[in-house]
Amino acid sequence: MKYSFTCPAPCNAKLKVDANSDDEAIRKLVVAGMAHAAEAHPDMDDISDAEMRKMMKAGLEIGS
Ligand SMILES: [Zn+2]
Repeated sequence: MKYSFTCPAPCNAKLKVDANSDDEAIRKLVVAGMAHAAEAHPDMDDISDAEMRKMMKAGLEIGS
């Protein structure tokens, strides 16, 4: 299944992963989100794994 997460405006970058369950998707999106944040938002305050996970859970979209 395809899952995605859209980074909050004004970024609006869409992170996409393939996963077999919501849990797996969130795990992968946390990794993708950390990489995206390091690359696109270096000035963003450090966000913990738990916070990132919460954000991904709240914004998780199923399908493309
Ligand atoms: Zn972003």
